[in-house]
Amino acid sequence: MLASPRSRRLTRTLARWALGLRAIVPWRLVERAVLAFVKMEAECCTQSSPYYKFLQRYVAQFEQSGTFARARSFLRERARHQVAARFDAWLRIGALTALRHEVLAKYKGRFGVAPRLLTEAQLALSPGCDLQCEGCYTQDDRGGSAPKRARIAYLVDELVSCGVFTIHIIGKGEPFLSPTWARELLSVIEERPHVFFTIATHGMHIDDELAARLGALGNVIVLVSIDGPEPLHDARRGAGSYKRVEAAIARLRAHGALFGFSCMVSKKNYEALVSDEFLEARRASGCAVGVFSRYFPLSSEGASVVQELSLAGDSLAKYTARFDAVRAGPGLPLLDLDEVEQHTGCHSRAGESIYVDGITGQIAPCLRVPFAPDDCSLDRSNTRGQLAARLAHPFFTAYRTGDKQCPTWCGANLSGELESVAGLLEGHCASDRARLDEYEQRARDASEGAGKDLTNKRHLPVLNATNPARHSPRADGAEPSKESRSTP
Ligand code: SF4
Repeated sequence: MLASPRSRRLTRTLARWALGLRAIVPWRLVERAVLAFVKMEAECCTQSSPYYKFLQRYVAQFEQSGTFARARSFLRERARHQVAARFDAWLRIGALTALRHEVLAKYKGRFGVAPRLLTEAQLALSPGCDLQCEGCYTQDDRGGSAPKRARIAYLVDELVSCGVFTIHIIGKGEPFLSPTWARELLSVIEERPHVFFTIATHGMHIDDELAARLGALGNVIVLVSIDGPEPLHDARRGAGSYKRVEAAIARLRAHGALFGFSCMVSKKNYEALVSDEFLEARRASGCAVGVFSRYFPLSSEGASVVQELSLAGDSLAKYTARFDAVRAGPGLPLLDLDEVEQHTGCHSRAGESIYVDGITGQIAPCLRVPFAPDDCSLDRSNTRGQLAARLAHPFFTAYRTGDKQCPTWCGANLSGELESVAGLLEGHCASDRARLDEYEQRARDASEGAGKDLTNKRHLPVLNATNPARHSPRADGAEPSKESRSTP
């Protein structure tokens, strides 16, 4: 559903009209009404939906951290054209998302509509990156040509027609590496104000022109990677990169773009990432959110790198305790992706999320589990309805059951998850089988390493029975069985 120029003009005119009166609009009341509605919806829909479980838990955290107060001041204070764009997008996303889902739900399984509706997707658009960060697990999966504007638009529209309303542009490289890639992606985003996008970037190619363009969009948040204070960040991403990222963030702020930071949490940097000084600096620079992603032992780097980066035992317990203490600090809500998944259960297994490799057209359960039969891919014809048809494939039908086969989530039981996926691939042609075997071996190492001496073993970044400070809940929210507690 692409917003027509006429409908966009209408919303923007209404927004400008409201903004003319913004001093007397009771924004706090509007906010309260919206929040009450979201909480009510989350309350009644949490049973089987990770998305609503997410809302129920984290909207309160955002509220507590002052996110909505910041949105109110943005509406009051920024230039009218920027406010109008954001208001336009928020109205569409807020009003149309639920409506679109209601309508699509009536047509599930029919031509062009998935048998289970998605809510979000990870979309990889970049075949290359100019950095070689320690611990990057997409480095083995590069190459090919970046999709052009028409193809990006097609992929986005296919996802939206299957229910998606949030698209994470992530992997397999840097989305702003080429100015052409950046322009084409932003054109697609601009034409779809009813869809919310997050873009993960290392930030080093954000110049004034790109920052201004991002500042004019209402439906995107840019997540810039910052892996710690300058020495730690530069050690992972190259000398001088911290200063370039800070300059990029200053540009985003000057142009009124919505942005936050993301970081890879490892044994090397976890203390710095949850320190008051680091978080205060991010708050002061205008970040709207911080996204923490724990190092995941899937990169093909040697055992010594894995050993140096993996959070486990004491370091993991200290990190999670400190993260809990600072997660809803004033002015800067923090999300730890593994903690989110631990709370909500696996979004992919529940059928709410999917990973699309926009370079090859392959679709798969998740960026962390990028495997599926060869015939689960979108061909180059850009024919409508392909994604819905692939999601009806026996592999995805078996995978997206929402229960049973996923004892915890891949962050806690990657080995079990890969084994399960390998089982589901039996009888299908999957030419990436060799890579899956490698992944499985690495995951097995991790699994064994978590409960024993960790020397030369990969281990998963979650607390479990060997780290009694916290255990792993099941995806269905019930207490874990004895077996699953002892499984990392
Ligand atoms: S910037 Fe991102 S994609 Fe590029 S090497 Fe670093 S972690 Fe990997």
